[in-house]
Amino acid sequence: MKTDDVEYTTFSGWVDPPTDVRPALGDDIRCEVAVVGGGLGGMSTALRLAGRGRDVVLLEAEFCGHGSASRNAGQVAGAPGGDMQLLSLLHPRRFPGIVRMAENSAHFLERLIERLGIDCDYEPTGNVCAAVSRGQMGRVRRVTRLLRKAGAKVELGTSAELGIPRGFLGGMRESVGGMMNPGKFSLGLRRAVLASGARVFERTRVTDVTRSGDQVVITTPGGRVRANRIVLATNAFGGELAITPKRLSVPIWVSEVETEPIDPARLEALGWTSRSGVVTQHNIMENYRLTSRNTIVFGVRRLQRGRSHPLPRKGPDEAVVADLARAFARRFPALADVTAARAWGGWVAITPSWLPVAGKVGENVFYSIACNGHGLAQAPYVGSLIADLIVDGEQHEDLKAVWVNKSRFPRPLMMGAPGLRTIWTVDRFNDLINGSRRNARRGATPVN
Ligand SMILES: Cc1cc2nc3c(=O)[nH]c(=O)nc-3n(C[C@H](O)[C@H](O)[C@H](O)COP(=O)(O)OP(=O)(O)OC[C@H]3O[C@@H](n4cnc5c(N)ncnc54)[C@H](O)[C@@H]3O)c2cc1C
Repeated sequence: MKTDDVEYTTFSGWVDPPTDVRPALGDDIRCEVAVVGGGLGGMSTALRLAGRGRDVVLLEAEFCGHGSASRNAGQVAGAPGGDMQLLSLLHPRRFPGIVRMAENSAHFLERLIERLGIDCDYEPTGNVCAAVSRGQMGRVRRVTRLLRKAGAKVELGTSAELGIPRGFLGGMRESVGGMMNPGKFSLGLRRAVLASGARVFERTRVTDVTRSGDQVVITTPGGRVRANRIVLATNAFGGELAITPKRLSVPIWVSEVETEPIDPARLEALGWTSRSGVVTQHNIMENYRLTSRNTIVFGVRRLQRGRSHPLPRKGPDEAVVADLARAFARRFPALADVTAARAWGGWVAITPSWLPVAGKVGENVFYSIACNGHGLAQAPYVGSLIADLIVDGEQHEDLKAVWVNKSRFPRPLMMGAPGLRTIWTVDRFNDLINGSRRNARRGATPVN
């Protein structure tokens, strides 16, 4: 795959930024509930609160949808992220609830798209956890058993049975969920929030959150907001505010690449008849999906730890894009001559437990921050459940599944640069071994 002419962007490859960015806060104001962060979680919380008649203010550092909301791969997962075997082992009692919450998140998102009439090219194709080796196929079988036991709608099959390209051996399809253009979705959600009763201030970076009696005071460069309650929905940027619980999550940079448009006949020849999004079973997944513009978007495979606060505004590294391009050529040998057209990336929040997390600091600061790179459906769902909790005072069962009573978190393991590099190396070593075995079976010379 050629990567010479890749267009690197510091926003998203899916859409252009909006041209009607709202003015920053320029005054001191009061409200019942303030939401910090206009991503999928924050927008959905504000929309729900406004819809239920609450006086809500939304504060966003750039413009609503600027974060991973518009940058993600657009694969609406119907199952949780992370290593299912580890999650079910370490959290056996919480696991079924998390599985149900993930599935309900996807249904919630589908209803939201329909209710708001957002044109985001949504296709209910499901997604496939795909195996690229026999070892990965064994893992997929074990995960399928675990998920079925927890009540998930998943099916096991070969690549032909699942209608995914022959470069994958087979896998497990999550039949709930699908894929969309997340940029179009984010901008559609933004339009709905702007049209709601919520007061939205963009280009308004919150620099401090403090308590004053039973109220919360939010400081921004242009003014302060005094609120009865606030919701922190800052995702990977949470560590920038002292009020965010320590070690809640670590910020990790992930990258996506999009090919040039591909001749439909060549795409058809791949046998990708289900059009399901695909994620591999590596320790750090590779993701692949078709788009409505006859391209393939693919990414992740390499995680990069964010160290400094504020997190830098960045685009993907050339070395990461080259690595992703090597993977693409390996999974789609028939398309090895296709050119990579553009690349982008974003910050996700990974929790020490790899579980999505929501909770409360004191009585009036709520947070819903970390969906471990699986928040396209989960962040808006959990965000709207937090809005309901604020209005009704009662927790939905799915919010209980991710709720932490004590906002204390352990030190994350293997999340430093050396740890992430080691995980990547183990994945590449396994790829090498599997490639050699495959070639030996075919009687060919091993290729790295
Ligand atoms: C490249 C990539 C691929 C991904 N692929 C998938 C996928 O296929 N499927 C999936 O389910 N998930 C995917 N994800 C993850 C998913 O996009 C996120 O989990 C989800 O967007 C999280 O939503 P959020 O609202 O919590 O955060 P975000 O959308 O990141 O929003 C946080 C917002 O808070 C704002 N903010 C931060 N600090 C402040 C402050 N101090 N003051 C004011 N505003 C502030 C930011 O500007 C930002 O707009 C991917 C993410 C990336 C980056």
